[in-house]
Amino acid sequence: LKQESYQPLTETTAVLLALELNLFDEHVNLTCKEIGDGNLNLVFLIFDQAKRKSIIIKQALPYAKVVGESWPLTVKRAKIEADALTVFGHIASEYVPSVYYTDDCLAVTVMEDLSHLTIARTGFIKGNNYPLISKHLGEYLAKTLFYTSDYALGPAIKKEQVQRFINPELCKITEDLIFTDPYYNAETNDFEQSLQKDVEAIWNDDELKFHVSVLKKSFLTEAEVLLHGDLHTGSVFADESETKVIDPEFAFYGPAGFDIGQVIANLLFQVIVSIPKRDVFLDHIETVWNVFEGKFTQLWETENKDEQAKSKEFLEFVLIKYFEDALGFAGCELIRRTVGLAHVADLDSIKEEDARLKAKRKTLALGKILIKQRKEFNRIASFLSLVKDAL
Ligand code: ADP
Ligand code: MG
Ligand code: MG
Ligand code: MG
Repeated sequence: LKQESYQPLTETTAVLLALELNLFDEHVNLTCKEIGDGNLNLVFLIFDQAKRKSIIIKQALPYAKVVGESWPLTVKRAKIEADALTVFGHIASEYVPSVYYTDDCLAVTVMEDLSHLTIARTGFIKGNNYPLISKHLGEYLAKTLFYTSDYALGPAIKKEQVQRFINPELCKITEDLIFTDPYYNAETNDFEQSLQKDVEAIWNDDELKFHVSVLKKSFLTEAEVLLHGDLHTGSVFADESETKVIDPEFAFYGPAGFDIGQVIANLLFQVIVSIPKRDVFLDHIETVWNVFEGKFTQLWETENKDEQAKSKEFLEFVLIKYFEDALGFAGCELIRRTVGLAHVADLDSIKEEDARLKAKRKTLALGKILIKQRKEFNRIASFLSLVKDAL
């Protein structure tokens, strides 16, 4: 099966691959199920009958199937994902699945099975809370965003890493779906008819579009740190004690605030939809930022290779930039999940139409505020009190 040409795996050939890799004893009976949602990638769960051992094989498909149409998409993203899991695994092993094997030609990553955990978005929608998830994500962000930067790697290795993670096709998806399409009458957009007026107000808001262009420019041009690039709550597995970040196929060198902003926005969806638990999720957002800031500061002061950059004033400048960018990118995420192609179940699963539309209008309003006023809340507390007032 290890071979020269790409072919999509089936449940049968996925088992053959697992056997060939000696990941199970020779004579065990293996069961295989494809458990991915089938839009971009195949995900096979393979386990022995006694359930003593299980693994995941993720394989990239050479196209993206979206709304009935297909567009070709390089399977090279599997290498990006495998390489990013490896880098992030070295930096923050406690928050990343172990990788057992990768094959660039087959576009597969064989990794730790995390089925004992729940995808955070799914758990949140069911009403579960994961008390440590925000502390863990704050640490994950601090470590990955510091240890992949110039200040940890030095200029030569950092530039090698920038090259290794050039990811044009997946970046293009983000550039279009997050920063471009929601702001004009694009074919990819997908929103409810009742929101037409609200959406047209966005298309006609030149001040908003100016700010989105500024944020898009950061995304396009600031090769600052290795981003996960798709760090929503559907990319996070959790339970009461553990948190694992999966699915970094969008990884590339970009502005640090982007990952932080996606985490904040995806927690904000729960602030918006889950009125009884609003304070729980506001606390999570506060914790993500505070833990990130504390850990990042510690790493900056102790492991920074650039003496001149260690000054208090410069660290403060960097953190303010990250905070403002994070709020702006969070605003973009809020808007694109209501107007654009890819939605979130937090909003779409609200069955009652009035409640759903109300939640989506709040999302749009908050998104606009975050994008336009991101420089006005210089501290997390003033941001959280604005959110409380706005909702
Ligand atoms: P995609 O890039 O297609 O979104 P993901 O990596 O997010 O693929 O995986 C899709 C789904 O497959 C996840 O939501 C999860 O249910 C399952 N999955 C992925 N990786 C693992 C894993 N390591 N352990 C258990 N389930 C996984
Ligand atoms: Mg998915
Ligand atoms: Mg995913
Ligand atoms: Mg993915």
